[in-house]
Amino acid sequence: MAKYDVVVVGAGPGGSLAAKTACELGLKTVVFERGKKPGDKSSSGCGLAPRIFRDFDFTKEMDIPSLKIKYQSLHMLDENLDERFMMRWSPSDLGDYPEAREFFQVDVYRRDFDRFLAGLASEAGAELRTGTVVVNALKDSKGQVTGVVTEKGEKVEGDVTIAADGAVSLLAYQAGLREKWKPDEITLLVDCDFQAPRERMDEIIGPEEYGNQVFVSPLYPAPYVAMMPEGFHVGLGQWVGRFTSGFAEKPYEYLRRVISSKPLKRFIDRLRAKPREFHAHLLPWMPRVPTNTYGGGIMLVGDAAGFACPLEAEGIHYAMFSGKIAAEVAAETISSGDTSAAGLKLYEERWKNSIIGEEFSAAKEWAELWAGIFFNPPQWSKITPLANNLMLWASWANPHITNLKKQISRYSQGLPFLMEFIKSYVQPLLRKSNVHLFRSLMKLGWMWLKTKKRKGIELILEE
Ligand SMILES: Cc1cc2nc3c(=O)[nH]c(=O)nc-3n(C[C@H](O)[C@H](O)[C@H](O)COP(=O)(O)OP(=O)(O)OC[C@H]3O[C@@H](n4cnc5c(N)ncnc54)[C@H](O)[C@@H]3O)c2cc1C
Repeated sequence: MAKYDVVVVGAGPGGSLAAKTACELGLKTVVFERGKKPGDKSSSGCGLAPRIFRDFDFTKEMDIPSLKIKYQSLHMLDENLDERFMMRWSPSDLGDYPEAREFFQVDVYRRDFDRFLAGLASEAGAELRTGTVVVNALKDSKGQVTGVVTEKGEKVEGDVTIAADGAVSLLAYQAGLREKWKPDEITLLVDCDFQAPRERMDEIIGPEEYGNQVFVSPLYPAPYVAMMPEGFHVGLGQWVGRFTSGFAEKPYEYLRRVISSKPLKRFIDRLRAKPREFHAHLLPWMPRVPTNTYGGGIMLVGDAAGFACPLEAEGIHYAMFSGKIAAEVAAETISSGDTSAAGLKLYEERWKNSIIGEEFSAAKEWAELWAGIFFNPPQWSKITPLANNLMLWASWANPHITNLKKQISRYSQGLPFLMEFIKSYVQPLLRKSNVHLFRSLMKLGWMWLKTKKRKGIELILEE
């Protein structure tokens, strides 16, 4: 029976980073990937967060087709799908490292990115076995995972197994770490990959103007357009457990309606884009801190562990980051001779103390914001008219003071909704950030009074 220090299942971002790191730490490592090539089975494209370029130096040398996304926009549509309000923004000068100030994300195709990462793992010494499906976990008499079994019946032993096999992790199930995702922990995303010539994209949009767009309306849950190096994706999703509230019809039917809506149709026509492929994917989107991410002889990384971020399900960075931590823990526990659950508990301690743990510290609040607003189409029949009237005071329709009076009346009607929004979604998040709204307002008021008083005293002294 073949024997390794580390057996990795899945050559996605999590698995490849785990394998690369394990090899660099001197561990004999094998990676199993069911696709003929890494990336074959992944969603066709993704955005790489600026953190990836900050935390993983080697990505700076990456030479694959890519697109820097320097804008995000939110389009609010009414029930006829006419645009009523639009916001567009660029990276903030509060970004605390150069990439964060320069772009929101770098969009790439997964077939290129996954192959790039798997190539680095191979270069580091990992044995990459593609076109091989892992169907079972090997266990010893105490139930500790000791390796894997492939579909051909081959048994491969490892001191530590790293399950990087994505959202529908068979290994998590086989190891007894998870039965099924709960309905509020997993989303179904459907998308269509459109192909458009890059020259046409540069001509119509402009190389410096690439941005991702989210469309909200009372009709369907927050579809998006994500620009890609040669085209774009149109997609939408919803928690599996909320299908009845967010998706009254089949998800593909919504996607079809989004694609044939006026703003999207115009965009597609202008780029002369052609639909290339439809996809459906499951993606964990956790309203709580992930649990059971390790067991005797096994650690779960990336989507297998449920690490996609709870606000937007951005998961590539956390997959890479957790893969690296898992490999480091594997090296330490193999060297100390304790790869039991007690030894591998270190993995959970490490990720909880990392930016992954920090991200999940407000998991419930972020997920509720998403569930209550973006994945909740009826809310937009209240929000969009309020946004649409934001500039009413400046209109030439009437004397400006009349416009302002109308605006105040509209906003006072919307006040109960705004107060409820602040109470339900903003206040819990502020509390998580240790900001207490009422106390902060009191403090601001007090500071303002003090300044006024001081200014008054200064004026008296001047006189
Ligand atoms: C439509 C969509 C869009 C997304 N967009 C973004 C984005 O823009 N930015 C972002 O950061 N995140 C995005 N995500 C999330 C991101 O794709 C995941 O969080 C990330 O891919 C997780 O990486 P991973 O390595 O854990 O798992 P995966 O990328 O899913 O990789 C798992 C690998 O394991 C292999 N595998 C599975 N089972 C077996 C088996 N039994 N035997 C052998 N091999 C197996 C698979 O073929 C696959 O290659 C998106 C997700 C979806 C679905």
